[in-house]
Amino acid sequence: MKAEKNNVVSLTYELRITGKDGEVIDTAKENQPLDFIYGSGMMLPKFEENLANLKADDSFDFMLTAEEGYGVRNEENLADVPMNVFQQDGKIEEGLLVVGNVIPLQDQEGNRFNGQVVSLTDETVKLDFNHPLAGEKLYFTGKILSIRESTKQELEHGHVHSHGHDH
Ligand SMILES: [Zn+2]
Repeated sequence: MKAEKNNVVSLTYELRITGKDGEVIDTAKENQPLDFIYGSGMMLPKFEENLANLKADDSFDFMLTAEEGYGVRNEENLADVPMNVFQQDGKIEEGLLVVGNVIPLQDQEGNRFNGQVVSLTDETVKLDFNHPLAGEKLYFTGKILSIRESTKQELEHGHVHSHGHDH
């Protein structure tokens, strides 16, 4: 069976940024592989494209450009947010607004997103809303462990039922 639309692919991987000798920033090992439904929009499209037609035991090794990955950095995704937004009961949690911290936020529609603190003034916090991997080249290596057909229920739920996830 091959990696193609609606099959459940289970794989190990290592993700390095910048290139083959770059820092490893994410891994999935055999005892806790990455499982996903191929072609269902869970993964980066170019990631799946590079796995197309691979089978169990095949290894992979490929690079995605920033555009193929999480996009290029956009300086318009920086914003000065008034300090009082972060107040709860008139106070700001100690240690929350520190340069480098990633702060979970929610907009009025309930969408969740993260902003990283870039700098602070007395009245405002400059937050960076770019994806943490925006602008990075992504180098993936790994191995396909198994490929199977997805069940009807998995397709309905849009996720894989295995490795402890079941209901
Ligand atoms: Zn489910």
